[in-house]
Amino acid sequence: MSDQLIVRVYNVGFGDCIFVKVPQEYEDGTGTTQTEARCMLIDCGSSDLPEGHVGPKGHALKDALHDVVEALPERMIEGQNRRVLDLLVLTHKHKDHMSGLVPDSLDPMWIERVWLSPLLYKKHKQAKGFRALQALNYRATMSLLERGFALTPQLRELWMMRMKNDDIEKNLKALPGKHNSGPLYVWRDLADQSKTEERLDAEEWLRLQPQLQELQFDEHTTTCAQMFREPGTSLRVLAPEWDIDGHYLNKGDEHYPALLASYAGDLDVDTQPIDYDRLLQMDERNREEAAAPRPAPAESERPNNISSADFRTLQDRLAYSALRFTAKEEGIKNNTSVVLLLEWRKRRLLFAGDLQWKEPSFLGKKIGGWDVMLDSEGASHLESPLDFFKVSHHGSENGTPYLEEGKAELEELGLLKEGGDTTIVLSVPHPSELISPSTGHRKLKWRPELIEWLEERGQVLRTYEPNDRTHPADHKFAIQVAFEAAPGWNP
Ligand SMILES: [Zn+2]
Ligand SMILES: [Zn+2]
Repeated sequence: MSDQLIVRVYNVGFGDCIFVKVPQEYEDGTGTTQTEARCMLIDCGSSDLPEGHVGPKGHALKDALHDVVEALPERMIEGQNRRVLDLLVLTHKHKDHMSGLVPDSLDPMWIERVWLSPLLYKKHKQAKGFRALQALNYRATMSLLERGFALTPQLRELWMMRMKNDDIEKNLKALPGKHNSGPLYVWRDLADQSKTEERLDAEEWLRLQPQLQELQFDEHTTTCAQMFREPGTSLRVLAPEWDIDGHYLNKGDEHYPALLASYAGDLDVDTQPIDYDRLLQMDERNREEAAAPRPAPAESERPNNISSADFRTLQDRLAYSALRFTAKEEGIKNNTSVVLLLEWRKRRLLFAGDLQWKEPSFLGKKIGGWDVMLDSEGASHLESPLDFFKVSHHGSENGTPYLEEGKAELEELGLLKEGGDTTIVLSVPHPSELISPSTGHRKLKWRPELIEWLEERGQVLRTYEPNDRTHPADHKFAIQVAFEAAPGWNP
């Protein structure tokens, strides 16, 4: 067991919850060989499970977290024996990646480090455009609701998928561990000290010193974590890039300049918090009112200087722009997912979050997370085949660059080889659960060609078909993959 690297991808319905246990063997400097395991959890969420829900088979996320705690090694910390999680990574701020962050689930763990996407850094100077977009979306959605309209199913789904900002911060603070000094926002060249000092504000720079000391900057300008003691084990941050507005915001879009210009001032999300509860309550109320029989609206309910037809057009426009820009905002959250490459005894494992590609490009610039990553110097790390690949964005057609120009890029890189033996994991709910019961809307677009393309490059596993980890309640609830050192590896 201690000679195997273990990956467990839990079946949490629509969401990601991935546990990785990395065996380590090293000389401790006194000539003694030490063995231990380092553990990390990549995401912890599900969009299917209401909080506190206990179904006939328990609560999938709680079951998963319980299993993680059992697998954690014990270490003596502050005079107590603790189950230590060395690293918790939350790739991006979507419910299906973070909703398990409720303090009572994670209480028995001691968390050493928490990594987050830089999109969550509130003082981020190169994400002002993104924040303006976010504020405009909120405003467009609210103005729709204030006019008495219910959200379209698609728009409602997008709002339901969001996470409340305050919950994340509060929940993170409540988790016991050394990370309590605050999370580390990670991006590809974070370990480039001089650039990072310029980018962060002075207080943040000081606060992060202990964590920044643990990072190395490699020859391909990629940040590499030094939390592993065994030579040759590394964890690299391949994405996202620091400059959110510069890389992921489509400034060439004809609508952007007007929209951004209409937003006055330097927006700080904190000063205008999004009131999720009010928004969703208004939507409920509008929905109920629309369903109730009632007399035709009085003339006075619409502005009297435009015709009914024009009024309808205005409403349609509002609904359209709210949907369009909210969808863009969610796309940017996916595209700025933290992407990690773990290398251990010549094994290579890639965790790609919800990265997307195929974003419409304007002015010849591609803004999908994959496009940006493949264009960066860090892409050198993607030149040889993977042993394990957590497919991005739940196998959605916009999650893997395999068609058109994208295909050539991935084929050239050799990340996934035809006839290869990569273990390819899709974190997906059962296909019958893909249609949202409340909206009838399809949550993901899968393309049979993409799945076939992946199947030609390795063994494709799906989380709704768990292969291992039988729960005490007698259901299987995780895919488990174990790796030995690769042939040819010499300690
Ligand atoms: Zn997701
Ligand atoms: Zn996402």
